[in-house]
Amino acid sequence: MATAAQRNGRDGEAERELRVDLAAAFRLAVEHDWHESVGNHFSAALSPDGKRFLINPKWVHFSRIRASDLLALDGNDPETMKRPDAPDPSSWCIHGAIHAALPQARVLLHLHPPYATALASLADPTLLPIDQNSARYYNRVSVDLSYGGFAEAMAEGERLARALGNGRRLLMGNHGVLIAAPTVARRSRTSITSSARAAPWCSPTPPASRSPSSRPRWRSAPRNIGRPTSRGASPRPSWPR
Ligand SMILES: [Zn+2]
Repeated sequence: MATAAQRNGRDGEAERELRVDLAAAFRLAVEHDWHESVGNHFSAALSPDGKRFLINPKWVHFSRIRASDLLALDGNDPETMKRPDAPDPSSWCIHGAIHAALPQARVLLHLHPPYATALASLADPTLLPIDQNSARYYNRVSVDLSYGGFAEAMAEGERLARALGNGRRLLMGNHGVLIAAPTVARRSRTSITSSARAAPWCSPTPPASRSPSSRPRWRSAPRNIGRPTSRGASPRPSWPR
C-alpha cells in the first residue's frame, strides 16, 4: 500500500504535469488568435470532486502565463475572492460552478473566438451539417440562450452547467463558447475544430451573391442586461513595467 508521502508525491507530480499542459493551452490559444489578451479563462480540476481546480490569474496576458502562475482555487473556501491574488469574479462564478456541478468535466476552456461567438449570437445558433466536417458536430453542441451579463453570481455558472450536462461543447448565447474535456490535449483539439467549423455561418462580410433573406439574423441580449454589462466593464489593467 502506498504511503502518505508516496501519495503526496504522485499528487504533486500530477499537478505539475497539469500545470504544464494548461500553460501550453494558453500559448496555443495565442497561436490561433482565439484569445482576448487578458480575458477568457481555462481551468483544470485537481480533485476528484472538481472543487479544487487550476485557473489563469487575473489580468495576465495569455502569452505570458506560466505553469507556476496558475492559481489553485478551492471551491469550498469562502475567502477566495478576498485573497490578494483573487481570480476574475467571472472565472470564479463560471468555472467554479461548472467544476462543482460536473466533476467529470476535468478541463474547461472558455473563449470568445470571433466565428464561434458570432454563431452563438445568431437568432438560430444551430450548427448545421453543411459539409463533412461540420456534420461531425451535428446535434453534439449544447446551447444556452439565457445570457445574464457579466457573471457575478454562481447562478450564471450553475445555469451553464445545466445546459452543458454531459456534453463537451456549449455555445453560450450572446457570449462565446465553452469546451469540456477529460484532458487538456483532448480539449484543445476540440476547440480548434469547433471554432473552424463555425466559420462558414458567420462571415462578417457575407458574399454579395447571398440573398438578404439568407443572411444570418442576430439575437440581441435583453436591453436590461446590455446596459449594466456596459457599465460594469472591467477597468484597464495596469501593465507591469
Ligand atoms: Zn466569457
